[in-house]
Amino acid sequence: MSVVLEKKATPIRNPFEVAQRQFDIAADALQLEEGIRIKLRVPRRCLTVSVPFELDDGSWRVVQGHRVQHDVSRGPAKGGIRFHPQVTLDEVKALAAWMTWKCGVVNLPYGGAKGGIEVDPKALSMHELERMTRRYTNEIAIIIGPEKDIPAPDVYTDAQVMAWIMDTFTMRQGFASPGVVTGKPISLGGSLGRREATARGCTCAIEEACKHLGLQLQGMTVAIQGYGNAGSIAHDLLHARGAKVVAVSDSRGGIHSARGLDPKAVQAHKQNAGSVVGAPGTDRISNDELLELKVDILIPAALENQITEENAPRIRPKILAEAANGPTTPDADPILHENGVFLIPDILANAGGVTVSYFEWVQDLANYFWTEDEVNQKLETIMRRSFADVVSIAEKNHVHNRTAAYMLGIGRVAEATRLRGLYG
Ligand code: NAD
Repeated sequence: MSVVLEKKATPIRNPFEVAQRQFDIAADALQLEEGIRIKLRVPRRCLTVSVPFELDDGSWRVVQGHRVQHDVSRGPAKGGIRFHPQVTLDEVKALAAWMTWKCGVVNLPYGGAKGGIEVDPKALSMHELERMTRRYTNEIAIIIGPEKDIPAPDVYTDAQVMAWIMDTFTMRQGFASPGVVTGKPISLGGSLGRREATARGCTCAIEEACKHLGLQLQGMTVAIQGYGNAGSIAHDLLHARGAKVVAVSDSRGGIHSARGLDPKAVQAHKQNAGSVVGAPGTDRISNDELLELKVDILIPAALENQITEENAPRIRPKILAEAANGPTTPDADPILHENGVFLIPDILANAGGVTVSYFEWVQDLANYFWTEDEVNQKLETIMRRSFADVVSIAEKNHVHNRTAAYMLGIGRVAEATRLRGLYG
């Protein structure tokens, strides 16, 4: 008698392979025709540049940067720029593809792009960071612009970095071009509400999930991994709505308090100490332990590949809201689904950022600026509508929410691609 050993497939960790796997699952569910499928699986354009810049001691350094445009069928490419030592071209390709589907989910007239520099920005002085950002902008200036491709902040980039990009691009043009980036300082044509938009959109999606599941957000326990733009502001907003955030973390580790964490106190501690770790009245936990805490709502708001087939069986929040891009691998998805975790997938949960980036761009092009209330109301309308769209596709097609969100986003991009046809 021969025993056939089932060979376990190697788990996928490369972010671009993850993105392609997620795409394939939704493309199958949509019964997408072969031509559209092979076109949308790959990015349209990848630009890798060497970025030489001068260090403060007068020596020179060269780092590698990327800008990837995944698809521009529905409008200019849109997506953030990340400065991180683990940036790779494949990561940027994945992030660009996710931007395409995200803009499709919330129905913005954009395609997807992303940029990144393989560098540890924490090891650079402000002046070094500025010189590197300006040189990178100069190198990718051939493909960006208000009608072509509009960058924004992402991990370890912020409004100041966007100001340098805007200024560098503007100096090359010879006239002010604020629409080349979003997430800028307000005084340079930024939008009110943009800084809070990713967390506000995520909070809004969580409120919709609570309504859908018949739960009360007030009093629910929350854990947040990552304490930057998305994570720390989500702490503020959820705390203000009466939820109890019991654990948060950053790259140095996490903290826990069963009584709940006050956002003001944690943010003040991070400001002074450089990390949430050590905030008074809290216990230290690891990032891995945070993910497995018994909480009602879990918000990954840091990097990719945090929830895998290894830890997924022990991750059982009522709601998993992916503020980060790509925090869950395709092998973890069915485990979470089987365990009854209600997933708000990244391309829906964090779409508030690109939505208000779109509002910022519209305001820049019109030279007419909106109040914060107008911005927030328009954002909430889009988030609530998109949540309802995703849940209705999931129910109609008996698929989980990630596949439903992909079906919505890919479906819109596929339609545009079909109508435009192949050029040449
Ligand atoms: P950020 O740079 O403001 O913050 C990143 C946070 O993650 C920091 O607190 C950092 O310490 C923490 N971190 C880094 N490595 C970590 C690790 N290994 N474990 C735990 N924490 C770690 O970045 P951000 O803009 O808040 O982005 C966070 C996530 O949200 C990313 O996946 C990003 O793509 C996504 N996102 C951001 C926006 C936006 O508008 N900023 C929009 C959509 C999606």
